[in-house]
Amino acid sequence: MQIHDATFLASNTRLDACPPPTLPEYAFIGRSNVGKSSLINMLTGQKALAKTSSTPGKTQLINHFLINKNWYLVDLPGYGYAKVSKVARAQWGKMINFYLRNRENLTCLFVLLDSRLPPQAVDLEFMEMLGTQGIPFAMVFTKADKQSATRTKQLIEAYLEKMSTSWDELPRHFVTSAESKEGREELLTFIAKINQQ
Ligand code: GDP
Repeated sequence: MQIHDATFLASNTRLDACPPPTLPEYAFIGRSNVGKSSLINMLTGQKALAKTSSTPGKTQLINHFLINKNWYLVDLPGYGYAKVSKVARAQWGKMINFYLRNRENLTCLFVLLDSRLPPQAVDLEFMEMLGTQGIPFAMVFTKADKQSATRTKQLIEAYLEKMSTSWDELPRHFVTSAESKEGREELLTFIAKINQQ
């Protein structure tokens, strides 16, 4: 898929204020610093469409972008900020859960995972929750350029092995790099195929 048009639409804290659910929606989520903004900018071919989150604990918003005038890309606030208060964390959980459960046009949630890290409890728990809620998602391993392909493969296998105990069918996964653009075509083709269905 070529992206010829990527436009910021709105930032919201409330689902009912989000753009009307009339187009397929693909959302991106992950721990702070996982490379979410870099990946969104790499996918859309725009240097600063998504703002890099250099300020931990900044306002937590659901950011909608309109792509090619026919699907929404959503940048969801990251989780796992060490410095965020319990209250802020609880607010994040409430907002995200409400969005994930009630956004009727949510087609796939991309869960970003740093390809250099062994399986993290917070990510495993989050994906477990997605599975029990029946929320469609795929795993996206980021920053693959930072290490060898062999090492990335080993860490992905460690994730899949951990997950295989509680999943009948493992979620699909992608390997990406905002630096080398690895995974860009695969992700965009995946989205294009679903949009054609
Ligand atoms: P966010 O907090 O998840 O939005 O993460 P950012 O996109 O702001 O990235 C966090 C840091 O990781 C920044 O310093 C990025 O330059 C760096 N980074 C993100 N993606 C990649 C990547 O694919 N390769 C490399 N080498 N660095 C990356």
